[in-house]
Amino acid sequence: MEKILDINDLHVSFVTYGGEVQAVRGVNLELYKGETLAIVGESGCGKSVTANSIMKLIPSPPGRIKQGSIYFKEKDMTKLSKKAMRNIRGVDISMIFQDPMTALNPTLTIGNQLTEGVKQHQKLSRRQADEKAIDMLNLVGIPNPEERMKQYPHQFSGGMRQRIVIAMALICEPELLIADEPTTALDVTIQAQILQLFQRIQHETGVSIILITHDLGVVAKVADRIAVMYAGKVIETGSRQEIFYRPNHPYTQGLLNSVPRLDQRSEKLVPIDGTPPDLFSPPEGCPFTARCPKAMEVCSQIYPFQTELSDTHHVDCWLQDERAQKYIASS
Ligand code: SF4
Ligand code: MG
Repeated sequence: MEKILDINDLHVSFVTYGGEVQAVRGVNLELYKGETLAIVGESGCGKSVTANSIMKLIPSPPGRIKQGSIYFKEKDMTKLSKKAMRNIRGVDISMIFQDPMTALNPTLTIGNQLTEGVKQHQKLSRRQADEKAIDMLNLVGIPNPEERMKQYPHQFSGGMRQRIVIAMALICEPELLIADEPTTALDVTIQAQILQLFQRIQHETGVSIILITHDLGVVAKVADRIAVMYAGKVIETGSRQEIFYRPNHPYTQGLLNSVPRLDQRSEKLVPIDGTPPDLFSPPEGCPFTARCPKAMEVCSQIYPFQTELSDTHHVDCWLQDERAQKYIASS
């Protein structure tokens, strides 16, 4: 499979009055053509910061990519100029956020907003751009697109607005779509429709998708692969089946036991005790140590090496590493 995104050893920090927050601490991730990778974890785990780093949307100051590379089609995005980045954003890579209203201009018709980018980037005439916009509205399931093009955002429901935002994100035919909590603001029925829409779009256009979410129900429906983040690190990655049926990291196991899931009925929910570590001075060892029911002595001292459980399933946990014994003995 063709790799379209390769993130290596990414470190991102934010300087505040209280000190430096190490929001992302050595993230490695890969994305293949045509797949949906879900990045999951609690708020503050670094998933949105990772996504924003790809788009160079880290506000600087206070934020800074301190280390690492993000290759998108042979180019290291961390090294691109603002101008080069503007040519990529919305064209090669598009992003969708939680609240569709922030992405739409209330004073412009949907038609104007849809065609603006594509006219500019693909040098289309007004008519060609209108045709393309109508195609896109059809693709995302907006009825009567010709008429709807003349309307303003407030004339649409929340779910319809998110469909329009998705149409806007796709109109320039990007290779990568990053969706950050795209269904969080929507009610459950609409959520399910939008998730189906993502699947259909991927099927029809072949776009690769990174889906950022705290909602494992969403992930269970659409992700091909899942990366679980905790305290600025990716602690486990695997196929959807591996993560849901053979979760290995105690945090992933805790996460699956603590949230209601669409794929399981009436299981007893067990919240994970405690809170994530302070990222002003993150622990040297495994950041989950203080909350982990299986923690060993070595865990608080040295960050675990990555163990490969299968070609696709990787975990950072001492439980899987025979060397833990050696480190315990010598510590
Ligand atoms: Fe628990 Fe240790 Fe594994 Fe961390 S490395 S998850 S503390 S067992
Ligand atoms: Mg890599």
